[in-house]
Amino acid sequence: MAEKASPDDSETLLQLARIAIIGVGMIGGSFALALKGKGVVGEVVGYGRSRERLETAQDLGVIDRFSCDLAEAVGGADLIFLAAPINASKTLLKALASLVGPEVIITDAGSVKQEIIAAAQQSLEEGFPMFVPGHPIAGKEKSGVTAADGNLFVDHRVVLTPVEETNRHATQRVRRLWETVGADVVEMDAVGHDRLLAMTSHLPHAVAFALVALLGEQQNAEEFFPLAAGGFYDLTRVASSDPAMWRDIFLNNKEPVLAGIDGYITVFERIRELIRSGNGTELETIFEHARETRAKIQTGQVV
Ligand code: NAD
Repeated sequence: MAEKASPDDSETLLQLARIAIIGVGMIGGSFALALKGKGVVGEVVGYGRSRERLETAQDLGVIDRFSCDLAEAVGGADLIFLAAPINASKTLLKALASLVGPEVIITDAGSVKQEIIAAAQQSLEEGFPMFVPGHPIAGKEKSGVTAADGNLFVDHRVVLTPVEETNRHATQRVRRLWETVGADVVEMDAVGHDRLLAMTSHLPHAVAFALVALLGEQQNAEEFFPLAAGGFYDLTRVASSDPAMWRDIFLNNKEPVLAGIDGYITVFERIRELIRSGNGTELETIFEHARETRAKIQTGQVV
């Protein structure tokens, strides 16, 4: 679709008569609540597979109505927010292609960007410029609409990864929406996003899953449980995250995640070797550098 240079009138950019949330879980539900809280959306329609869960979302006031029929759910929407797990989102993009007009903005929350962009390009064809890839760097280890929180995005980063074809006006509208709900929006390319997030989010989840799996595999594992220290809980909180969602994230960001795991193994082996050889000086140096780096990292943000 040809890009029209519309004036960036803030009111026009903000107000949406209707949005459709595809996948009304923790992130989709939080976005809906946040937009409703700011009064910038007329109606929120939910789409999902489970009528029961959608009823819960409606009862909680997260959505105004719902449909288990995708065409009905997105009918008349100005903006579609895709917040299902990555592989489901890829499939949903295919289905959306024939259901939405070229004026409808589609944006997403997926934790991996290159694969989603490729799927959108393949599926949406002429509608592709209206797809604005996004990823809120905010979340919880809890899933489902009952974990939705209208303040989730306040003071958290949202990364948008538009490509050359992406309609600038659409990107600007999505940016304004995120800013309205309190997020700090940055734009970067999808390759950079996937490489950085592999290290700051995906690898830590792999480490947490591996550590808890290791404990679970010990003989008489229950003996360890009462003695799990605060450090164990701090380090493994994210191992309570949804397994299917994380399966999709790892498999859709293969190379950067594998590079991160390789790097981690290298550092881990260095630490093992220093412990084996009794090299306390070097060991302390590694820990000291880690502590200095940790102090520089802004805390309190969860992906
Ligand atoms: P969630 O499990 O809470 O919500 C996902 C929702 O999608 C659920 O309601 C589920 O029923 C629905 N769903 C699954 N398959 C579907 C399908 N085929 N059709 C329609 N609906 C379907 O998960 P979440 O934490 O909200 O994550 C959603 C997306 O946001 C994921 O792509 C994830 O990568 C991304 N994300 C998650 C976090 C986080 O911290 N959890 C943070 C940022 C981005």
